[in-house]
Amino acid sequence: MPGTPLFYVLFWGVFLITLGIFAYRLRQLWQYMLLGQKETGSKSLIRQTLDTLNYVISQLCQLKNFRRKDWAPLGHALMVWGFFISIIFYFFFIILTEGFGLIALEETQFYFYAVWVMDFFAVFIFIGAAWAIIRRYIIRPERLKGEQTIEAMIILLSVLVHPITHIFEIATKIALGHPPAGLGHTLLPPVSAWVSNLFTAGAGTESWYLGFLWAHWVTVVIVLVIIPYTRYLHIIASIFNGILRNRPRTVLKPIDLEQAETLGTATIDQLTWKQNLDLYSCVVCGNCQELCPAYESGKKLNPKKVIQDLKKHLLKVGPELVAAKASGEAAPDNPNVPLAENVILLDEIWACTTCGACDEVCPVWVDHIDKIVDLRRNLVMEQASMPETAEGALRSIEDRGHPWRGTTLSRTDWAEGLDIKVLADDQDVDILFWVGCTEALEERSTKVAQSVAKLLKAAGINFGILGTEESCCGEPARRLGNEYLFQMQAEKNIEILKNYGVKRIVTACPHGYNILKNEYPQFGGNFEVIHHTELIAQLIKEDKLKLNKGLNEIVTYHDACYLGRYNNIYQPPRQIIKAVPGLDMVEMERNKRRAFCCGGGGGHMWLEEQEGNRINEMRTEQALETGVQTVITACPLCLQMFEDGIKAKAAEEQLKVMDIAELLAAQIEE
Ligand code: SF4
Ligand code: SF4
Repeated sequence: MPGTPLFYVLFWGVFLITLGIFAYRLRQLWQYMLLGQKETGSKSLIRQTLDTLNYVISQLCQLKNFRRKDWAPLGHALMVWGFFISIIFYFFFIILTEGFGLIALEETQFYFYAVWVMDFFAVFIFIGAAWAIIRRYIIRPERLKGEQTIEAMIILLSVLVHPITHIFEIATKIALGHPPAGLGHTLLPPVSAWVSNLFTAGAGTESWYLGFLWAHWVTVVIVLVIIPYTRYLHIIASIFNGILRNRPRTVLKPIDLEQAETLGTATIDQLTWKQNLDLYSCVVCGNCQELCPAYESGKKLNPKKVIQDLKKHLLKVGPELVAAKASGEAAPDNPNVPLAENVILLDEIWACTTCGACDEVCPVWVDHIDKIVDLRRNLVMEQASMPETAEGALRSIEDRGHPWRGTTLSRTDWAEGLDIKVLADDQDVDILFWVGCTEALEERSTKVAQSVAKLLKAAGINFGILGTEESCCGEPARRLGNEYLFQMQAEKNIEILKNYGVKRIVTACPHGYNILKNEYPQFGGNFEVIHHTELIAQLIKEDKLKLNKGLNEIVTYHDACYLGRYNNIYQPPRQIIKAVPGLDMVEMERNKRRAFCCGGGGGHMWLEEQEGNRINEMRTEQALETGVQTVITACPLCLQMFEDGIKAKAAEEQLKVMDIAELLAAQIEE
């Protein structure tokens, strides 16, 4: 009975044993995490702490994925909000008052109102947990396939039992006439008061009260014990993962090629400690799997599985590696096997288009792409192991300064007759048009470069190009894992740009845009970089581009991953389409941050898709479903992928693809 010496001994005893187990496991996890390498780059800790707390408390981390078809984020939010309130309640009343008898709050009005609040939040938790159980074990959505594990059931049951034991504990107290009853209020907490009708005052109810009190305490204790052993760990790890996350998350970190002992990641201890923290944070929700184009198209890659496989491997070899680190002697039988092929299959490593959908929807800030690219880096630079087609593209960049093997065009063929300034001849320009390899050298895309030039001229922009001095920005090389080649290209380009005193750059390629804007600063290349959709939208707004023709058509727009998810450019292209007289737009079902990749990123423009369906054909089908006749893009790789997809589907009569610059160029008077 509370208040007796035996009760306190039991309560304290159970609590201390629990804390001991909890601390022991956390220490182990800490040691495994620190097997990782040092992190580079700076973080804005105060801003990220406030941002993370805001996201966790408001549950925006979950609610950002809320859709009419998926109520799971709301269920999670209900449970979390309920638990925040429960923790405060437990601290004052279960631990300090009932459990340890340190303060006496039960007879106060504070207790009465706290029980009222808890009455509602207990219902929130119950609904959230019940919904999660029904979803996982009865509805079984695709992303939870194979996740009907005992571990998940124990976790969900522990969440479900919590509010039930709380309500019954309070109900028995009410039946016995204890607080919250007897504090001078007629309106008691409704749920507990309603349940109290099941009990009558007497010795039997005293026993029930004691039973519920202990049951409630035991569920608290069970949860504490299993937190560090199960995916519950995300409760702790994800908060630190949010605070310590890399920003912007899609920017790849450079390798110090002169100092690095290993290039990329070969073994688990070559992940950084922050990458290990990512593994602890994963809650196995499957959001990343659901949006991954590689997984959806039937490839072996599943971003959730990649994270889980790395975590399992770390926990498996962790004890031996920690012991080896402490003794300074190598672990027997070397458990530190290469990750590629032993833990993550080569097919998984090469199937990633780096589309960023997984990183975008992950509620706990897990980064996937950095790990996949680090594995590629090791394969490419240390083992010369890569798909043959990737090798061809990389060799072409090395030999010819672009990845388009077999092209017969030169860098400036597209500009013939357009009277465009080349910086080598005339440096008096306000902005440099970075054309990019695809728009300069791939036949279909040259029309995009010509359209951009036409629009810039029509708006009276004083621009120029590098012409034959422009070389590959290095983006395909970096995403394919050849950091050497990327750094070589970046340094060469930065030097040329600086020599010409370039300050502003416009490009129609989101891949070039992303790398020039976000990754060239790592090597001292700081330029103002804008995408052609941003510049055109601005020119229309300022009335410098007059769209005086008009078009009576409905189109759809495909969000390029490196423009949308990577750089948050969603509105400018839509504003441009809206500005064309008579033109209307319908969205594809997967749009903006949930848009489906075209299949061309991460070097895949130059890789053969060996397994499953073709991603570009799947995206073409999604565009066809809208029933429109034109799909607009703002990326030369997407343009090319759609062209191929339309041909493969024999849908040339139903659908055509255009870059937004081509659409606009046709709308202005010569
Ligand atoms: S970046 Fe895209 S393709 Fe790669 S794992 Fe993530 S969702 Fe899948
Ligand atoms: S990595 Fe993130 S999105 Fe993927 S399963 Fe884990 S928590 Fe969910």
